[in-house]
Amino acid sequence: MDISHIITDLNDAQRAAVTSEMGCKLILAGAGSGKTRVLIHRIAWLIEVENVSPWHILSVTFTNKAAKEMRGRAQDLLKQSLGGMWMGTFHGLAHRLLRAHAKEAGLPQNFQILDSDDQLRMIKRINKEFKLDDKKWPPRQTMSFINKQKDEGRRSQHIDHHNDLYLKQMVTLYQEYEQACQRGGLVDFGELLLRSHELWRDNADILEHYQARFQHILVDEFQDTNTIQYAWLRLLAGQSGHLFVVGDDDQSIYGWRGAKIENIRHFNTNFKNIELIKLEQNYRSTGSILTAANAVISNNPSRLGKNLWTAGDKGDPIQLYEAYNEVDEARFVADKIKNWVKADNLHASAAILYRSNAQSRLMEEALILMNIPYRVYGGLRFFERAEIKDALAYLRLVSNQYDDAAFERAVNQPPRGIGAKTLEQVRAQARANNQSLWQAATDIITAQQLPPRAGNALKGFIQLIRGIREKYAEEALSEKMKACINQSQLKLYFKKSRDGKGQDRIENLDELITATEQFNFIPITDEENAGLTELDNFLSHAALEAGDTQADPNADCVQLMTLHSAKGLEFPLVFLVGVEEGLFPHSMSADDPERLEEERRLCYVGITRAMQQLMISHAQSRRFRGQQNYPKASRFLKEIPADCIQNVRHRAKVKQTYQPSVAASTNTQESPSTGFKLGTKVLHPKFGQGVVLAAEGSGKRARIQVNFNDSGVKWLISTYANLEQI
Ligand code: ATP
Ligand code: MG
Repeated sequence: MDISHIITDLNDAQRAAVTSEMGCKLILAGAGSGKTRVLIHRIAWLIEVENVSPWHILSVTFTNKAAKEMRGRAQDLLKQSLGGMWMGTFHGLAHRLLRAHAKEAGLPQNFQILDSDDQLRMIKRINKEFKLDDKKWPPRQTMSFINKQKDEGRRSQHIDHHNDLYLKQMVTLYQEYEQACQRGGLVDFGELLLRSHELWRDNADILEHYQARFQHILVDEFQDTNTIQYAWLRLLAGQSGHLFVVGDDDQSIYGWRGAKIENIRHFNTNFKNIELIKLEQNYRSTGSILTAANAVISNNPSRLGKNLWTAGDKGDPIQLYEAYNEVDEARFVADKIKNWVKADNLHASAAILYRSNAQSRLMEEALILMNIPYRVYGGLRFFERAEIKDALAYLRLVSNQYDDAAFERAVNQPPRGIGAKTLEQVRAQARANNQSLWQAATDIITAQQLPPRAGNALKGFIQLIRGIREKYAEEALSEKMKACINQSQLKLYFKKSRDGKGQDRIENLDELITATEQFNFIPITDEENAGLTELDNFLSHAALEAGDTQADPNADCVQLMTLHSAKGLEFPLVFLVGVEEGLFPHSMSADDPERLEEERRLCYVGITRAMQQLMISHAQSRRFRGQQNYPKASRFLKEIPADCIQNVRHRAKVKQTYQPSVAASTNTQESPSTGFKLGTKVLHPKFGQGVVLAAEGSGKRARIQVNFNDSGVKWLISTYANLEQI
């Protein structure tokens, strides 16, 4: 048997991992050392050499996109389709399980997935029922409490509140939320995992079936699993399952969302006979980039410890640009990308990484101005947009009238004269009779309990949904979608809206119809055929796949994304922007040692995304979220050895035509009266060296703003400032 295609492109350690004997393995390795590659080759090895049927393999990835890529690469290696293999995210896999065993899991067959918006709405409603003030009991806080409990595998009845008043209230809210979800057949993201864990825990026969089926479990990015995911894996693996997990403790960056770095640190205490394999050779980045990454991460005290090295060249030094403001920074990035593309590189080979989503806007403006195509990855997700959710709420109701979250969203969007009082009455009745909102509403109408106008408005809504449900029952999904959008009058409503986004929203609704037309209905073909309709399948797809459908992923465009979503990816040219105290490390993490370590790991992730060239920038002055700041360079920059870095200069003049909407205009132009261009380095007899940030006024009143290295930002009267250009 020729197995060269499976093992030739591997180094010794990688080969050892891929060809290792059956059993539990932990591949602990640094960024870019081939973990994901090893995992894919291991799948190929199992199937081709160990004769394992793809049907016996379950593989977990961090994103849906990664799952698709991994399946494609494994299929390429084996030249066969791997249809029977389960591959996906924890949520995706748990969802699939619940669909197959909805009844045993205590769910209706067509249960719907609740996203965080719906969740919040539901909690607000519960607050109202309990007459709790949203200010005192912020729904967001309750939501994060509930999610956290679910991530930890706890139901409301498991929480001991020790008569603590706050905790007691939270537990009551959690309990009420659980009941409301159960009534409506609704499942939030955390519930997918928790419920499927319970399904296995409480149904020995089902667990046995899956243990026998998934004898081989492979997990990528293991360092970011949370408690319930880990418990899920342990149950499935049982005593005899073969676990093959790959991860890097230095890249654990989702602690804030419940990930437990301990899972990888203590893996060998929970599973017997673990074989640990370390990979330290990096194939992705140049020597300079690796030196920088190693140096930064070495400042974290608690690490499992490994050091990356490369047999490749040192490459170009990391370029560091100190912009004088955020506009200048964005302009610098766009200029560099222009040059990069001129030198025969693809747009798609460049990525701009930032700490917070909101930072993308400025970068986008600069790219648009210079006609550079780009794609915001995972930012504004299509299925997360408000108008899309509005339209989907109708579709959800058509599928399942008992979906309270959808009812709440659709009932008065667009407004149709159903007043707050009417809704209150519906909610109160639903609560009193333990019914869904839909049932309560229809009962109220039948009993004619409302004044005629209110009654008619509510009746109109019920008839609208019922009408679509009945008339379009046999029609294609896209026809149902069209009916929802047209009959709900959402378009008309957005057309009239004055927020300037109406047209966009209408276009998005049109795109949603396209999405239903293009949706390929693939029924679950396994033995556990769930018998789902195309409609339910699409709704689950919309909830689960948010983010993957944004733009044509094949188009050649620059990639913009947060550092978090860059995990696992690589690009020849990487920009890390806004590397400043307050932004990165984030102001909320700077004072907490553990969170600071996580920020540093994030920095390590960012640096190690770069293959050939890394460019880092920070600004001396930044207007961000409506505030003017004068941030210091990030502490992480100081941790990079100076000999890896080259300071770069840029044309320090920004044309006035390019003005961000919020930045003060004085920030972006040259002052005629002071004679100093913005960004000029200057020396002051008392304050020392600094950089000109802004200038305003004229004549005697002309003022100049300078950020001095030692004494901070100062405004000076130009004529007396005694500044010298350096
Ligand atoms: P991350 O920690 O960022 O997820 P990783 O450890 O999963 O990284 P991979 O993405 O698998 O690393 O590999 C990094 C890059 O190195 C890829 O481009 C991969 O194709 C390449 N690579 C890995 N191993 C080898 C090898 N033995 N020979 C040549 N290239 C390799
Ligand atoms: Mg990887």
